[in-house]
Amino acid sequence: MITQEVDLAIIGAGPAGMAAALSARKAGMENILILERAEYPGGLLHQCIHNGFGLHYFNEDLTGPEYAERFINQLNVKDIKLCLNTMVTHLNPDRSLVAINAEWGEFKALPKSVILAMGCREKTRFSAGIPGSRPAGIFTAGLAQKLVNVDGYMPGREFVILGSGDIGMIMARRLHMEGAQVKAVVEMMPYVGGLIRNEVQCLNDFDIPLLLEHSVSEIYGNDRIQGVKIARVDKDGNIIKATQRDVACDCLLLSVGLIPENELSIEAGIEIDERGGGPIVDEYLQTNIEGIFAAGNVVQVWDLVDNVTLDGEKTGANAARFVAGELKRAPSEIKVISGENVKTVTPHKICGTESVEITLRVDEIIEKAELKVGNFRKNYKVVSPTEVVKVTLQQSDLEEFSQCGEITVSCSKRRKEKKNA
Ligand SMILES: Cc1cc2nc3c(=O)[nH]c(=O)nc-3n(C[C@H](O)[C@H](O)[C@H](O)COP(=O)(O)OP(=O)(O)OC[C@H]3O[C@@H](n4cnc5c(N)ncnc54)[C@H](O)[C@@H]3O)c2cc1C
Repeated sequence: MITQEVDLAIIGAGPAGMAAALSARKAGMENILILERAEYPGGLLHQCIHNGFGLHYFNEDLTGPEYAERFINQLNVKDIKLCLNTMVTHLNPDRSLVAINAEWGEFKALPKSVILAMGCREKTRFSAGIPGSRPAGIFTAGLAQKLVNVDGYMPGREFVILGSGDIGMIMARRLHMEGAQVKAVVEMMPYVGGLIRNEVQCLNDFDIPLLLEHSVSEIYGNDRIQGVKIARVDKDGNIIKATQRDVACDCLLLSVGLIPENELSIEAGIEIDERGGGPIVDEYLQTNIEGIFAAGNVVQVWDLVDNVTLDGEKTGANAARFVAGELKRAPSEIKVISGENVKTVTPHKICGTESVEITLRVDEIIEKAELKVGNFRKNYKVVSPTEVVKVTLQQSDLEEFSQCGEITVSCSKRRKEKKNA
């Protein structure tokens, strides 16, 4: 079996993996190997032919492939080894891994450090718990996006889309532009699951009906889907049967969330955050296994690719520090706990002696919100589950919490300030 000895192995050549490789190179790392199972680098970006990428990172409005190209070109210039059509099948606690491709067959890599950048996969109808028959014509929104944008194939003519995440709303517009009829985007929550800009630009601008506090209660059809039942839901998400109505369609798209690709992480013994589904990381994005870092959507589902790139850059630089023996952990660690109205938070623990960037998603929309992290306070006009909130804590904000070993992050409505107080 061929064995590759490298300083850094990166699993996945999406935006996180590519940014990680470039920043590791910038930090002086020599021998970097990227392993990517697809036939091209760029991860999800190659199928996202709409614009809206890079507004923060490049201060430009790019399509997904344009954004990806900027990094792919740099990989070539910096002479970073990229193995495409290469699937990593095993990852071990000693950081060794096994992969397979047509050139080397099954081979081994013995890296001094590893970056997990495997991204997410889409949840299916079973995660959404929709009963009914199992006809053809039910797709996840990302798969339909690949069929339309990459393979040039329209999966249907009359669509219902369940879930108003960004992928669902973007696909509603795309299918409408291709001449299909999008009968409704159906969302259980009282607000859309994706960015407000996508609600405006993808649904409102094209008069695509959005049904909030509704769900699909049944799928019917034998060989091919013929329609779905749509119904209102109560505040606990239960179907209100009296409101059920039939909507004919030949395609149902599901945009009901993403889950981190975490099989390799689990196999290696990496601790997983039960809420987010990704690896538990410290502020260096290092997992519980020293020298294994994680970046991008495999850790948490980011709202913008610009943030994924920054995450990747952080891991690349930290992997270089680790290999150089310069990444020091403090003797004790502070556990970061999700408190009131906080759905997910990273890092999950703080081990170092430097300032720390905390990112979180809230559970519900709050106007006039106050974010609290230990003694640190910050006010927001509004916070929403659809957008990641970022704050930077200084070492002085953390000092007193190193004693008790934990710090809670919470977000609630600001109390009214008393006049003349
Ligand atoms: C439909 C859609 C629309 C979007 N629109 C926007 C937008 O308008 N603006 C914006 O900023 N962001 C947008 N995004 C988000 C953006 O695309 C993601 O945030 C970004 O792609 C995540 O990057 P990543 O590197 O973490 O993961 P990915 O892009 O998913 O890359 C992960 C890579 O890892 C590879 N991989 C996984 N497992 C293995 C393995 N075992 N072996 C080898 N390789 C493996 C995969 O093949 C993949 O290439 C959109 C996403 C989608 C799906």
